[in-house]
Amino acid sequence: MHFTGGASAQSSADWLCNPAAKASAHLVLARDGSIIQLAPFNVVTWHAGVSQWNGVIGLNQHSIGIEMDNAGGLRQVGDSFQTSFGKPVPKDQVVIAAHKYGGPVMPWQAYTAVQIERAFELAELLVARYGLEDILGHEDIARGRKTDPGPAFPLEALRGRMHGRADDSAPHYRVTASSLNIRAGAGAEFPAVAPALKKGTELVLLEAGDRWNRVEVVGNTDIEGWVNNQFIEPLNAGAARAIAVKKPAAKRKKAG
Ligand SMILES: [Zn+2]
Repeated sequence: MHFTGGASAQSSADWLCNPAAKASAHLVLARDGSIIQLAPFNVVTWHAGVSQWNGVIGLNQHSIGIEMDNAGGLRQVGDSFQTSFGKPVPKDQVVIAAHKYGGPVMPWQAYTAVQIERAFELAELLVARYGLEDILGHEDIARGRKTDPGPAFPLEALRGRMHGRADDSAPHYRVTASSLNIRAGAGAEFPAVAPALKKGTELVLLEAGDRWNRVEVVGNTDIEGWVNNQFIEPLNAGAARAIAVKKPAAKRKKAG
């Protein structure tokens, strides 16, 4: 998993197809969730560079490269933020964080919700189809040299989900309403699929949406459905990243 550090998905795709780049990848994932495939998956591309993981050296020979359209680390200029090439980035697209391998607390461009969702879907498909053993960031295989996909991308949650690991950074939530309907679809018009969830019920994220998340009740894998994001709160950093809903200032008593 990479960020492009580029200006747009198309410009990055064009550059990665230019021999002068001396770099390439299999897929470019745009901020609107669309995907540009640059090479078949049985062809080696040049996305990893000097790299190693778990005793394997030269990861180009062993991996599929996904470049996500994202500017990476940003510059703060006064009160505003811009990419390294001077393009302004709105504040609601900025994540302030330190990289997991060190460095200062600094601004990074956020990934879009649909981009993260599509990245999860892609990873799930590719792991299943090709029996891949792990999902790694460029930052993991070229440690100290690369910082992508960086702290704005929920890589540990993705790895945990793909590998079924006991991973406490998998997005977990808690019900905050006194009772919360869990529904067959992402809207109040859909029927409830189980008795309403009680306050404090713990949930794990299956699919992130803007206003509704598809979740599973922890400890009861038979109950799965959609809940209104206004009535759940994140229990860990992975959940905080996966949910980008603004809670209403007013009391939230009634379930969606
Ligand atoms: Zn990279």
